[in-house]
Amino acid sequence: MKTNEMIDLEDKLGAHNYKPLDVVLCKGEGIWVWDMDGNKYMDCLSAYSAVNQGHCHPKIKKAMMDQADKLTLTSRAFRNDQLALLYDELCKLTDSHKVLPMNSGAEAVETVIKCARKWGYEKKKVEQDKAEIIVCENNFHGRTLAIIGFSSDENARENFGPFISGFKQIPFGDADALINAITPNTVAFMVEPIQGEAGVIIPPQGYLKKVRQVCTQHNILFILDEIQTGLGRTGKLLAEEHEGVQADLTLIGKALSGGFYPVSAVLSNEAVLGVLKPGQHGSTFGGNPLACAVARQALKVLVQENMVENAKTMGDYFIEKLKQIDCPAVKEIRGRGLMIAVELKSGTPGGARAICEKLMHMGLLCKETHVNTIRFAPPLVIKKEEVDFAVERIKLALSDL
Ligand SMILES: *Cc1c(COP(=O)(O)O)cnc(C)c1O
Repeated sequence: MKTNEMIDLEDKLGAHNYKPLDVVLCKGEGIWVWDMDGNKYMDCLSAYSAVNQGHCHPKIKKAMMDQADKLTLTSRAFRNDQLALLYDELCKLTDSHKVLPMNSGAEAVETVIKCARKWGYEKKKVEQDKAEIIVCENNFHGRTLAIIGFSSDENARENFGPFISGFKQIPFGDADALINAITPNTVAFMVEPIQGEAGVIIPPQGYLKKVRQVCTQHNILFILDEIQTGLGRTGKLLAEEHEGVQADLTLIGKALSGGFYPVSAVLSNEAVLGVLKPGQHGSTFGGNPLACAVARQALKVLVQENMVENAKTMGDYFIEKLKQIDCPAVKEIRGRGLMIAVELKSGTPGGARAICEKLMHMGLLCKETHVNTIRFAPPLVIKKEEVDFAVERIKLALSDL
């Protein structure tokens, strides 16, 4: 089948809940992907940071194939020989004390909401059905009904109600707003260390540290959604390390499998995850041996191949080079590690989408977030000359603005 036939068939038969660039990919290796016509592109999205380790990493692939030969799914009705090892390696790496494995990111978020509420009633003694969780404006935590109910993105919510109550929104990056929003019924505050989908919004220095203090002081759980920022993306294994804090519950997903398979996890401790007793939460696929084997290897290569350090050095270099581009249509360039955004001035003709389409024709794949922001988040294995390759094209794409 030809590329345009493939696109037509997809559009005819599939729900249009995405608006993809018209490139049909069929092969990937490291930071590179190829379309059906053999054109090669640099991937500057990394499947929204799910392929931090690069496409089809050979060691993760091998772990997956080897495990698939042995055992793939037991359900949690029985134990499997990969689960405890994943727990052990994750806890050591992230300084956590307990793990709850799930599949998608949204499931990890749902899990954490359930845990926080249960903890609130049983440990904090909040009155039954009164628990409140504070979240931030412009958050992105996934697409399930509970989660979109506390989104501020009208497009994500419109006509999906009625929603679940018990959530309150405050501005992102404002610790005083958190203090003011807390009531005796507040059980948790959930936030992204850097808001990814909102357009790589970085909070003021010291924000997470202040939030940590406020949460401790008011006996509320601090939940960090590191599904996008975690596992090296920002130049630290977890973004919370930038401020030397530890959340009560940390969510990871996406790159936890290096893009091979959906794997997510809630990282926490006995005081919180201990509220769950048998039968109160679960997932048929969560913690299956295939997922665990893949996740173990995905974590191993992140560390062994120094991807976290590389994200820091290449990220700094990428941002510095971008800042040298002189383009009057650029409003701001910001980022941390390899989580980078170029924001165009509002009213720029065609917006960010037009730049992404131009870049695609130049061999660089990236995706707009909202109207005016282009995100650059290549796999963490990118090299200096490859950053140069990207920046040259970005400069060219911006040059006629
Ligand atoms: C992607 C993402 C999610 C949702 O993960 P899914 O696997 O798509 O359900 C949640 N939170 C953040 C910050 C994300 O970037």
